[in-house]
Amino acid sequence: MEIHRTSSNFRPYPPPRKNVLLLSCMDLRLIDDLVPFMEGDNLTNRYDQLVFAGSALGVIQQDHESWYDVFFQHLDIAVQLHQIQDVYIMEHRDCGAYAKFLGQNGKYGDSPHELKREEKDHRKFAFQLHDEIASHCARKIADGGDAEMWDVHVRCFLMDLRGSVIWLKDDGSDEAW
Ligand SMILES: [Zn+2]
Repeated sequence: MEIHRTSSNFRPYPPPRKNVLLLSCMDLRLIDDLVPFMEGDNLTNRYDQLVFAGSALGVIQQDHESWYDVFFQHLDIAVQLHQIQDVYIMEHRDCGAYAKFLGQNGKYGDSPHELKREEKDHRKFAFQLHDEIASHCARKIADGGDAEMWDVHVRCFLMDLRGSVIWLKDDGSDEAW
């Protein structure tokens, strides 16, 4: 199937109304593929980008605990400066950081079973970070922060090595385009 990365017809979620913070991996093969994906949501010059090896897993892994704080410190600045109302977590297949942080379990083959296992792991870590961002923003409001400013939503995605993306829906099902 031809992938329409720039057509909104293939984006089965509401477009962001304000600006976006994109969390991606550092993987050199996919940096260029992130741009058309973001442009497809009409986000040219409307997103901040944070790059962590392993994307969501990079933020929450335990080998470099400071990365967690670095992420949330930058999230705070992005929200305060740039009207960020959506965070996009972009995971990707064949991520070297998964193998680094998870060992043998973080290496995946190309069989349907392995691809499913890989997707499941990305979903797990992406939604773990999703939940932590939600809690973080809820705490900001509880501590007296601006409720509108900290009304931040999170969407999780998985990119393959061709730059094609699936949306990891909150209900656990997939939506590819
Ligand atoms: Zn990676």
